Amino acid sequence: MRKIKKIAVMTSGGDAPGMNAAIRSVVRACAYYRTECIGIYRGYQGMIEGDMIPLTARSVNNIVHKGGTILKSARSKDFRTEEGRKKAYENLQENNIDALVVIGGDGSFTGGVVFNNEYDFPIIGIPGTIDNDIFGTTHTLGYDTALNTAVDAIDKIRDTASSHNRLFFVEVMGRDAGFIALNAGVGAGAEEILIPEEDLGLDRLLESLKKSRRAGKSSSIVVVSEGDKTGKNVFELADYVEENLEDYEVRVSVLGHMQRGGTPSCFDRVLASRMGVKAVELLIDGKTNLMVGLNNNEIETIDLEKAIKGQNEINRELLRVSDIMTT
Ligand code: ATP
Repeated sequence: MRKIKKIAVMTSGGDAPGMNAAIRSVVRACAYYRTECIGIYRGYQGMIEGDMIPLTARSVNNIVHKGGTILKSARSKDFRTEEGRKKAYENLQENNIDALVVIGGDGSFTGGVVFNNEYDFPIIGIPGTIDNDIFGTTHTLGYDTALNTAVDAIDKIRDTASSHNRLFFVEVMGRDAGFIALNAGVGAGAEEILIPEEDLGLDRLLESLKKSRRAGKSSSIVVVSEGDKTGKNVFELADYVEENLEDYEVRVSVLGHMQRGGTPSCFDRVLASRMGVKAVELLIDGKTNLMVGLNNNEIETIDLEKAIKGQNEINRELLRVSDIMTT
């Protein structure tokens, strides 16, 4: 087993709250185990360009509560090429780096697996993305914070919706996964929730909105995932409802990138701390190609390839609860 003396950490793909807490955890765990640590800026692109900085336990003071990532993040076209990955490998060699912790989403893990296949380089993944769309963990870093941000925003929209008897369509992030929409929708008491995993149909939407008016509700909130299956974007949906339902004043609010920012929740900070320590311990133990995940509140590991290929199922029980709540 090769001895791991120096570990690199980087953040890659879309940023997510809690990434800084994870960087801090990796750095501090390295210090604890007397292993050198180096930060790579801008994900794989920084690896190709040799953009790195030595990190000590004191380099990560005062970041546990900060959103974004001090190491910056990027999407790297060059890393998709053999030439780019060769350059990245040479830089790792030059800097005597023995192993890598990648904090990112499934794209970042795919890059890691490709790189490991080519260069047999030890890699551990920490799932960092607000979408919660990674198999093998019930929670990705940033998801809990993003949910709270979305609920907070929807609560505020509800105040204005009920003052004017309006119907609001609120679009939340999630191109392929409806976890934010479903959970934030239930948490914020939405009348309808449209997610990519389920096509409820436009008739059902109209019927549900009529029903809620008949039941005496003065305002309504419909939470829409970016990738919902109605075939209409959120503005087209709003127009459609206004055309088909009389007396409805409809407004649209797209929450957008605000969902990615902000102070990480306590849950995300704790999760990041646990995952960072585990990632370092795995590498020191000679493990590779694993992702650290949370299941039944235990930190577990899953094969990186399985994490990439697997699909998280939407919670059917929560869909049912959501239906009952609109009574
Ligand atoms: P998010 O879920 O927030 O989008 P992500 O990690 O999935 O995060 P991607 O942009 O898909 O984000 O991937 C991040 C980077 O990983 C890419 O910019 C690219 O450098 C690398 N990558 C992704 N797929 C591959 C691949 N097949 N081969 C080599 N590198 C890859």
